Amino acid sequence: MHELYIAQSILDSAVSHCLESGCNRIESVTIQVGLASGVMSEALNFAFDAIKAGTIAETASLITEKVAPECVCKNCAQIFEPTDSFILICPECQSTDVSITKGFELQMLCLEAI
Ligand SMILES: [Zn+2]
Repeated sequence: MHELYIAQSILDSAVSHCLESGCNRIESVTIQVGLASGVMSEALNFAFDAIKAGTIAETASLITEKVAPECVCKNCAQIFEPTDSFILICPECQSTDVSITKGFELQMLCLEAI
């Protein structure tokens, strides 16, 4: 399961950041998840809850901040939110020469520890 692997790396990284800063309990971990990344935040939360037991993050909550996908048209520079992640067409000029600039994020934003 993809999400289990991601949850494990979030947990590992949160634990090492926490210990490095001299803390011994993690309160919450905030991560940014792009909606185009294919990561299911519900599955990620479920996986995180399953693996945090027995660690210093046992009582920590995982907060996921979703990032909507955003495209930019290379033809007319229009920025738009794609309605379909597989068919990317500029709503202004109907060009298909567009690139996705947002939506693939998967990173830790904030870590609260005591
Ligand atoms: Zn365009």
